[in-house]
Amino acid sequence: MPKILMLSVREHEKAAIKDWEERNQVEVETVSWELHPETAPKVDGFDGLVVQQRSKIEAAVYPILKRANLKQITTRTAGYDMVDLKAAAANGLVVTNVPAYSPRSVAELALAHTMRLIRNLEIFDKRMEKQDFRWEGLQAAEIHSLTIGIIGAGRIGETSARIFKALGARVIAYDIKEREELKDLLEYKSKEEVLAQADVICLHVDLNPSSVNLIDEKALSLMKPTAYLVNECRGPVVDTDALIAALEKNKIAGAALDTLTGEENFFNFNLAGKKLPSVQLEKLRSFNNVILTPHVGFYTNIAVQNMVDISLNDVVTILNGGKSVHQV
Ligand code: NAD
Repeated sequence: MPKILMLSVREHEKAAIKDWEERNQVEVETVSWELHPETAPKVDGFDGLVVQQRSKIEAAVYPILKRANLKQITTRTAGYDMVDLKAAAANGLVVTNVPAYSPRSVAELALAHTMRLIRNLEIFDKRMEKQDFRWEGLQAAEIHSLTIGIIGAGRIGETSARIFKALGARVIAYDIKEREELKDLLEYKSKEEVLAQADVICLHVDLNPSSVNLIDEKALSLMKPTAYLVNECRGPVVDTDALIAALEKNKIAGAALDTLTGEENFFNFNLAGKKLPSVQLEKLRSFNNVILTPHVGFYTNIAVQNMVDISLNDVVTILNGGKSVHQV
């Protein structure tokens, strides 16, 4: 029976891994450490390897894996920039990733954030904490009366568009690559038109040089003062200082952010009672029309199971001499 070593395993993944082991009758050993030159010799005796880490897998690691007769490195993330593809190939290691573990997981958070914004739920919660139960000034709009602007209509953006369309909203989109097959679902527009016409802007681009600060002061100034910004993709896509300034001047109605520049210093940490390491985070937390979640778009039952299943299935395919469709 092959033995697979799974690295950087977090508690929330263990049930999904056990479930896969039972279904596939393959042994998976889970450890919490990452792959680096000092840990790499511990792969000896295993047939397959699954990683999940942000830090680089250094050049010295690949020959160690080769000597241990490993044939692949599989990352159970979409990003694979931590792997040196040339060094992997030079040592006979096939690299695979999990390009889409569940577009629904992120798209459903975009829906949840949008509904929370348009129904003023954050503001109601804050009022009610103070025993103020009035509804004055907080009439909501119904979702099917709104125009949703998707920026980045890729896998997740398309899924968001389908959800909003199913609820009766008009969906417009801006993407640098337009797809013919989406033209029944959404109306492609220029970036400026989407910003000016949408009641809710949902950001679903990947982070690349063209998408850094895609939402800057100028972009925010094009939005309607009644419109909301929802960022479910990557922090640097939004110029946070420009967003804070727009919120302070009521240039837009509010924002929901699952991701924020500098988030590696605070998201997924318990900082209760401590000074926050980001002035921007402090400022954003002070607005009653801003919703923050700590990068949890991906964190659902289906997405976690898919990350585990797709990565482990790929290891087995490669060990059996097959070719994974996720080879990068
Ligand atoms: P994707 O590659 O399928 O789609 C990205 C789309 O953005 C593409 O259609 C691309 O053409 C478009 N795009 C890129 N740069 C652009 C620009 N400057 N202007 C307009 N359009 C642009 O990716 P995906 O699977 O849909 O994922 C999108 C992003 O969501 C990921 O890259 C990741 O950053 C983020 N994400 C977040 C979470 C979370 O937990 N919040 C989870 C998974 C992914």
